[in-house]
Amino acid sequence: MTDARGYALREFAEMIGGELIREGSITRAEVLVTDSRNYSGRPNAVFFALRGPRNDGHAYIEAAAAAGMGAFVVSDRDAAAQAPEAGMILVRDTTEALQKAGAAHRARFSPEVIAVTGSNGKTVVKEWLYQLLQKSRHVLRSPRSYNSQIGVPLSAWLLQPEHRTAVFEAGISKPGEMAKLEKIIAPNTGIFTNIGDAHSENFKDTTLKIDEKLKLFTSCEKLIYCRDHGEIDRRVRAAFSDDNEARMGKGPKLRAWSFRDSAAELHIIPERDDAQHTLLHCTYAGQKFTAKLPFTDAASVENAGHCIMYLSESGHSPEAVCEGIAALTPIAMRLEQLEGINGCTLINDAYNSDLTSLEIALDQLKLQRKNKRFIAVLSDFAQSGEPTEVLCAKTAELLRLKKIDRLEAVGPELFAHRDTFRGLETRFYPSTEDFLKQFRHEDYHRANVLVKGARSFGFERVASILAEKTHETILEIDLERLRDNLDYLRSLLDRDTKLMVMVKAFAYGSGAYEIARTLEHYRVAYLAVAYADEGIALREAGITAPIMVLNPEISTYDAMIRYRLEPQIFSFLTLEKFTAALFARESEWPYPIHIKVNTGMNRLGFETDEMARLGKLLAATDAVTTVSIFTHLAGSEAERFDALTEKQVERYASACAKLNEYISSDYMRHILNSQGVFRHGKYQYDMVRVGLALYGISGNPAFRKHLQPVSRLITTVSQVRTVPAGEGVGYSPKELLPRDTEVAVVPVGYADGLPRTLGNGKGHMVVRGKCVPTLGNICMDMTMLDVTGIGCREGDKVEVFGDHADIYEMAENLGTIPYEVLTNISRRVKRVYLHA
Ligand SMILES: *Cc1c(COP(=O)(O)O)cnc(C)c1O
Repeated sequence: MTDARGYALREFAEMIGGELIREGSITRAEVLVTDSRNYSGRPNAVFFALRGPRNDGHAYIEAAAAAGMGAFVVSDRDAAAQAPEAGMILVRDTTEALQKAGAAHRARFSPEVIAVTGSNGKTVVKEWLYQLLQKSRHVLRSPRSYNSQIGVPLSAWLLQPEHRTAVFEAGISKPGEMAKLEKIIAPNTGIFTNIGDAHSENFKDTTLKIDEKLKLFTSCEKLIYCRDHGEIDRRVRAAFSDDNEARMGKGPKLRAWSFRDSAAELHIIPERDDAQHTLLHCTYAGQKFTAKLPFTDAASVENAGHCIMYLSESGHSPEAVCEGIAALTPIAMRLEQLEGINGCTLINDAYNSDLTSLEIALDQLKLQRKNKRFIAVLSDFAQSGEPTEVLCAKTAELLRLKKIDRLEAVGPELFAHRDTFRGLETRFYPSTEDFLKQFRHEDYHRANVLVKGARSFGFERVASILAEKTHETILEIDLERLRDNLDYLRSLLDRDTKLMVMVKAFAYGSGAYEIARTLEHYRVAYLAVAYADEGIALREAGITAPIMVLNPEISTYDAMIRYRLEPQIFSFLTLEKFTAALFARESEWPYPIHIKVNTGMNRLGFETDEMARLGKLLAATDAVTTVSIFTHLAGSEAERFDALTEKQVERYASACAKLNEYISSDYMRHILNSQGVFRHGKYQYDMVRVGLALYGISGNPAFRKHLQPVSRLITTVSQVRTVPAGEGVGYSPKELLPRDTEVAVVPVGYADGLPRTLGNGKGHMVVRGKCVPTLGNICMDMTMLDVTGIGCREGDKVEVFGDHADIYEMAENLGTIPYEVLTNISRRVKRVYLHA
């Protein structure tokens, strides 16, 4: 993912403090890769076999070598044998080696380097500085939010001699991490955005968190921050100001700005201008000027403050500052994945159009396996220091490398360089309007489509024409949060404990295939579904991970065997029938099965006193092999059931012991569900089976604190009207309005899974940050809300549940639990997936 001209492999080995075990065929180290699936044929690529909570890169060396990766950095000498032809460097710790590569490469250049950290806003400040500075010089900024222990060295590796300025974002989640990032970035200028609650669990208090972040700035020449954050101001002064004995070191010059203190170097008074703009009245070094910021929210105003301070400090005139601020545009950080027309999968990437982000988006596209064809709809690049012919040539090279089947190219520059794209299937359009005019539905059929355009091309229209049209209610599923929840669950487990994830009931309403694909990507050991047809659908969509079926019906046994789905066997009848289905299919022997023991849930399962008979039968057959024996806890969530839990564990252990008299004991054992993992970690055995917690939900506040809800149900206001007092709203109104009332209609009803019992004020939704009650009865496809006095308009976004409207509260109002709310969301509600 870089144009670094690279280093000879021997030199590279020295840079990272490694031992070159084998030179291999590779000539240079140019491209650094940390995820083998994202590698698509770039020459001179070096793969770092990282060990992380989700993954051990050493397991993928053979596959990566087969895909053409030329050299490897490993921490396990034996792993070298997996790729006998490739270059091989042995280090003690591969993550550390990656960081050394970033640091050593960075050290060869001397651009101005700006480092941004803080709890919120760091990506926006970084992107805005990029927008502000790149018009007049070559600027590198870390792509997207590449701010981690891995992301920062990969970003630093992108530095090139032509870059005059580099803006890096640094994020940490635990103590000790910032010093490592500081070594890589080696910034001249620091920006500390603010401090909040993120990752607080790993820090004793806010002071420690601030002090850790300040380590980024120890060698800076200057540090920009907002003095109104009192705690930051105190810690910054304690660390760096001249009048403190115990300060960290020489430290940067402090450049504090303020909304309140007119004595600050830069004093800003914000004033709301109109619905879209804020006037920022600035006083800097005696000069007064007013910048017009095209945003109104408090976070944007603060982010702009940091940018104005930076620009002023680096010698920009007030006119230049004002001009830059007026032209700032929103940052779309996310890749959005949604269902497109004619079975297409659509990746909509509104992030800045440049080569690095194009490559990241293409990689994301190539991870889609549902469809076989790949189409990219791209516009001219908006902002870049590079000549367009170079950009076009590089784009063409990328598209070839990633094996994109068709390019739909929008814009005069791509057209002017159409020769560059020879050999690719390509269509050119002078403008987005032309694209829309010539658009034909049938041209997009069962393909994975990337839509990525520069802002000025208004590609929202392209995305919307390609998106499947349903009504405006969506269930938004945040796969980044899913990953974070998975990480948290893994952090509660021993290293060797495997994870089985429940994707039953359409993955708790979140969409089985996309969730399964994401989990497969993060290498969970097992997936589990309730019924065979759910498993079959996953296999047909290309999921290859082992899948257990919890409730296999006897009529589906043949199909299960064809699709390599592994049954839960819970009775002598199911064992007999499944063995019978394997009769005459000797090639499938021994077929993996999972034995379910009833220890107190009293649902499915063998009784504990049936173990001897079961053991004899299992020992006598070659048709099946027992890969796991498990039970399910009836009350893992609450203390009042702990005695029962202990009894269940005891019964389970003795059932296993009994079985071991007959069969080999090398099967996996598992009993814990989500709450069990949290409350009874000592019973994790070989594997745990988690569902709800992964989707960010738990009834237990202590557990919930560490989880983030993955799903949000969002709708849009279709119409707003004022209804006079004395009238009713909707079908069979129970009550007449006591006052004139503003009524908003949203297109979500009981057919979408919004229970009718939430009508007449029992349910709430969040509009414009305000919690508003339902009005009248909920209809099949629509609901009315009382939005009096909140300035609600047509087109406003409404959250039914999610970050602001609590799904617990909603479940409680309904007298049920969040599982039921989630799984009731109708399939007609479009699922939209957000990627990191
Ligand atoms: C659904 C299910 C789980 C997961 O339970 P959560 O509470 O969602 O974590 C585990 N095991 C079995 C047998 C299940 O049916």
